[in-house]
Amino acid sequence: MRRAVYPGSFDPVTFGHLDVIRRSAALVDELIVGVLNNHTKTPLFSVEERVKILLEVTKDISNVRIESFSGLSVDFVKKCHAGFLVRGLRAITDFDYELQMAQTNRIMNPEIDTIFLTTSLEYAYLSSSTVKEVAAYGGDISKFVPEVAARRMKEKYGNKYKNKENVNEQQN
Ligand code: ADP
Repeated sequence: MRRAVYPGSFDPVTFGHLDVIRRSAALVDELIVGVLNNHTKTPLFSVEERVKILLEVTKDISNVRIESFSGLSVDFVKKCHAGFLVRGLRAITDFDYELQMAQTNRIMNPEIDTIFLTTSLEYAYLSSSTVKEVAAYGGDISKFVPEVAARRMKEKYGNKYKNKENVNEQQN
């Protein structure tokens, strides 16, 4: 069985991630999306929330499994008995870091190969951090993330706007 793992933070999942998920799932028998539980970062969504959103948005792709993990991606790939690690490449800025990671991972585990999928052009600009910035200022993120993620982000940031608006109203 040809199995691959697509690891990432997915905080939140964007249409760019979803595009990579769909396209890589079509290349393998099973794709495991690995949601990184990174204890050194403070994500907007907990790992459980990110898994839940990913389950919802990938429910129509039959060969995709969503799992959380912590630690090294290569160790997770090995634990999953997968032979490939999938990463997405947007711009030249991704390339430097991704190439370093792929080479490091290959030294750590020569049995695992990294497959890069270049982004579809319409998502080349898209990143989770930009989406969070737009959402934090109350901007429309419906063109960037699936509806369920947009809804959850509104809930997260909603109270902050209300508080901000109250302060502004009091000042005026
Ligand atoms: P990480 O914290 O591991 O970078 P991300 O969730 O930001 O996790 O990204 C996971 C992977 O998806 C990375 O390989 C990243 O380059 C890729 N990716 C992110 N956004 C896009 C996009 N818009 N198009 C294609 N690939 C993307």
